[in-house]
Amino acid sequence: MDSVESRRETLQLFRSFVEQRRELGDGYWPRPDGSALPAERGPRAALPSAARPPVSAERFLIPEKKPEHEPAYKLTTEQPAIAGESDLAVRLFASVAESPVPDAASLEEFRARISECHKCPLGATRTHFVFGSGNPDADLMFVGEAPGEEEDLQGQPFVGRAGQLLTKMIEAMKLRREDVYIANVLKCRPPNNRTPLPSEMEQCKPYLDRQIALIRPKIICALGRVAAQALLNTGEGLNRLRGTFHDYRGVKVLVTYHPAALLRNPQWKTQSWDDLQKVRYELDGTILRPKKA
Ligand code: SF4
Repeated sequence: MDSVESRRETLQLFRSFVEQRRELGDGYWPRPDGSALPAERGPRAALPSAARPPVSAERFLIPEKKPEHEPAYKLTTEQPAIAGESDLAVRLFASVAESPVPDAASLEEFRARISECHKCPLGATRTHFVFGSGNPDADLMFVGEAPGEEEDLQGQPFVGRAGQLLTKMIEAMKLRREDVYIANVLKCRPPNNRTPLPSEMEQCKPYLDRQIALIRPKIICALGRVAAQALLNTGEGLNRLRGTFHDYRGVKVLVTYHPAALLRNPQWKTQSWDDLQKVRYELDGTILRPKKA
């Protein structure tokens, strides 16, 4: 191997390593002058407090000092009863009661009301708005980061290579894609699939909150660091968030790898399968067979 080819391979290896660390969200990559990379390239900070729905409307308590690995939001123990509504419905709907997004009685109505959104600059660069797809009464919801190229072209979530892998993951859980609901935090594609900016997440996340309130899933599976951090309002890296269930407004959240990350790092598939087994067991007690190595 000549030296040019060897240098190219080394560079490629280094690029893959950096990409892996960035995906996991535990990277601090100093520049030669010692300064850190911009915030969106390092561990994502929690959304600014202005992005959080009003505490009074949500009946959430924000602990004065957040213990490590605890969800950012805590439900109060005083949930007023509303006749005819389950506890979960009360919590979810209360949480978006004063949300700045349009009200809607159904998912379809909500899609129609926000599909022309231009609240952030991504509205001007998208080909299609990508709302989400699947069973509007799903018990299980998958949430990813943002549409990619293929999703932007088709107006559907998770239809590219990563989407095909997600479909296989769902089928491995002995479910069908049409049984679950699939959405992203952002509804429009960031140019060149770059990581969403905090300002874009702040504008778009209330739409996801409203979607979840309308679907009322039992479990949310967060795909990748960005989705997990947005849902849980935390800056923790993926490795620290994986493995246990978290709380999102009374709904259980399990964090796993984004399928696109699994395509780049197939060695993570074993851990991903562990996560999916946990989700399925928590959903209805089904024990999936271990995959052959
Ligand atoms: S990304 Fe979200 S907030 Fe931005 S234009 Fe699209 S729908 Fe609106």
